[in-house]
Amino acid sequence: MSAIIKRSACPVPYIVGQSANMCAYCGIGDISGNFYVGPLDCILACKTHGDLAKRDGRAWFHKNNLVSHWDAFNDPLFTALNPKPGLEETADLRIVTPSGHIESGWRFRFLASWNDSLHLYKAGGAWMIHVEESPHGKKRAIQVNDLILSLPADKHSLVDAFIARLEVGFYKAEADEAAAV
Ligand SMILES: [Zn+2]
Repeated sequence: MSAIIKRSACPVPYIVGQSANMCAYCGIGDISGNFYVGPLDCILACKTHGDLAKRDGRAWFHKNNLVSHWDAFNDPLFTALNPKPGLEETADLRIVTPSGHIESGWRFRFLASWNDSLHLYKAGGAWMIHVEESPHGKKRAIQVNDLILSLPADKHSLVDAFIARLEVGFYKAEADEAAAV
């Protein structure tokens, strides 16, 4: 498995950095297949080895209990929550506030900034997902389990199925494949 290479010297991820401009798999000077796990952290790869970088990046997510929102949104749970597939921010979510009240009108938050995608993560044994009141409103992470508040009873099993998928390992296949190399 290839190491995550810090690109911190490079302020914008897709501008080629000065120091390490080689594919981590074959060493050629083409890094058009990079896979980013964060705004400044990626696995450098050429176009040919982009799939390997993606596999190893997803294995890294697996190891760190992270799931990309973009990948998670493919789960049927998110189709059920969102009346307009592809526009995840339009989902009307109900959340529990710290004081125990239920608020509606929240939506998924999947970008921290224009170049930094947020991830689902595990904390205190629970899977968490980022939500926001509006682009410039309050921001919070809620338990994935709380998404049942936004669904009719006959769709609650979708939440359980998604959590089961997270527990098995959303990227387990990639993690196993990377470990076998
Ligand atoms: Zn390569």
